[in-house]
Amino acid sequence: MKIVLASRNRKKIGELKTLLSKHFAEIEILSLDDVGITGEIEEDGNTFEENALIKARVAATSGYIGVGDDSGLTVDALGGDPGIYSARYAARCNYAGDHDDEGNNQALLQNMADVPTQQRTGAFVCCIACVFPDGRELTVRGEARGRILTAYAGQGGFGYDPLFYYEPLEKTFAELTPDEKNAVSHRGIAIEKFAAALKELGTGL
Ligand code: IMP
Repeated sequence: MKIVLASRNRKKIGELKTLLSKHFAEIEILSLDDVGITGEIEEDGNTFEENALIKARVAATSGYIGVGDDSGLTVDALGGDPGIYSARYAARCNYAGDHDDEGNNQALLQNMADVPTQQRTGAFVCCIACVFPDGRELTVRGEARGRILTAYAGQGGFGYDPLFYYEPLEKTFAELTPDEKNAVSHRGIAIEKFAAALKELGTGL
């Protein structure tokens, strides 16, 4: 089974391959570059699902199964922000410092400065969309709920991980090993659901 992932991020491609290989013995994950699809994809959807589908549809123009994903952090006290703007939150808030992961975290802390502990709840969300060569489409969603801290804890992970406290393990995502994070994370959950859906719908492809 060949899948084209709408990403040029080798780490993401490797991660999907590792997790899907557990379910499918013969799976080949190709990148957009591998199938000669060039150019940027405009992610102009209003939801994680829409953005994942936009990417999956582009990947499916290869003729293989197209897969796209979109993820981010939604904070209840901020009406769902950073949401689909998670990667560019600092820029969107006109944060004065760098517009990178650190800037995103600082912008989040600033915007939540007055939010009390009990209301600092939120969720990491990951949507994976899949478009089959016959036109069928599916999306799955994984969520991990947690609390946004007022200061960093932990050195691992990326993005908002050091601020995301996961109550069941009493640690931030940045304090978990990659395997521990995969077992409970939005992405881990979405990939497991995706594998189950592929088994049901995609056999013989
Ligand atoms: P992407 O859609 O997977 O590229 O993620 C978009 C943005 O959401 C990233 O740049 C991060 O800011 C944030 N994000 C998504 N997943 C995670 C995670 O597992 N940990 C921390 N931040 C994440």
